[in-house]
Amino acid sequence: MAKLYFKYGAMGSSKSAQALITKFNYEERGMRVWLIKPGIDTRDGADILKSRIGLEQKADIIYSGTSLWDEFESRMSNKIDVIIADECHFFTERQIDDMRRIVDECEVPVICYGLRTDFKAKLFPASARLFELADKIAEVKSICECGRKAIINARTDENGKIVTHGDRIKLGGNELYTAMCHSCWKKAQKQ
Ligand SMILES: [Zn+2]
Repeated sequence: MAKLYFKYGAMGSSKSAQALITKFNYEERGMRVWLIKPGIDTRDGADILKSRIGLEQKADIIYSGTSLWDEFESRMSNKIDVIIADECHFFTERQIDDMRRIVDECEVPVICYGLRTDFKAKLFPASARLFELADKIAEVKSICECGRKAIINARTDENGKIVTHGDRIKLGGNELYTAMCHSCWKKAQKQ
């Protein structure tokens, strides 16, 4: 039976690297992988899935208005054995529902990697939907500076101060995020 997987973690937990390694492992066994990511970013190179340890691959971008079900049905259903999706928190809830449908009706597994919460420690809608619908949920762990498990994606401004207001999506700002434990995040906000 195919399954819908959600592997979540904070930033810097090597989710993209794991997505690419998983792709490699499937391909080594002769299986065809459709690598996708959500289209929130239209800059050059946006269709490259990059990990900090240097692995990278081209991915198909699925924009927010696109039906993932239609894309799969019309272009991919006969060509692939598994879907690997990175940055899943930026898909729409509807696209997550489409993933569930692909798993159920087409017996194609979908493996999602993404963040649990935003910089305000609130669930991303797509991540909430994945918690509701996934067959298997696993945490990809990363560590705070203090040694505890990091669960918060703290956003900092140009002066290094913690920000807890603003838009959920801030592009081109990966360097503005730090994975922290909740206690360090609270302390940093007071400073
Ligand atoms: Zn900490």
